[in-house]
Amino acid sequence: MRQKPGRKPKEWTLEQIVAKGRPFNDCLIWTGGKHSQLGYGMMRYKTKMRTVHSVIAEIKYGTKPTKYTGTRVSRTCNEPACCNPEHIVIVDAGSLQRGNAAERGRFTDEEIKDIRNRYDNEYYWGIVSDLSKEYEVKPNHMSAICRRWIYKKVEQWK
Ligand SMILES: [Zn+2]
Repeated sequence: MRQKPGRKPKEWTLEQIVAKGRPFNDCLIWTGGKHSQLGYGMMRYKTKMRTVHSVIAEIKYGTKPTKYTGTRVSRTCNEPACCNPEHIVIVDAGSLQRGNAAERGRFTDEEIKDIRNRYDNEYYWGIVSDLSKEYEVKPNHMSAICRRWIYKKVEQWK
């Protein structure tokens, strides 16, 4: 098959990625292209533009986290362009800081089931308010979760 020049799949090793990082404190800051809004390191991996941390996670763990397996890539530091493999981890979506739930605008199915279980089995006056504080969302949002007004499809998998 004919390939356009410069478009052939680009393979990377962890060592090559790390070599493109500039040491900063304990981090390695990606010196290649960055995402204009989010500040993530960006790279062409094989044939696709990818975030550097997702490629590192894929090489390091030998698997690509997806929303379907309930895992996602996280960092142990606060540098969006960090390419230190030590700082890139794959975690269970549900074990991410609760504050991220509001930020990412969605809960995982496990979180929804957990919330509804507690609402059904441990119900007391004010539980919605307590849950909303714990998960850092507005009480009316939490109420809609508990009453199955939103995230309706989670219920079908019970
Ligand atoms: Zn870092």
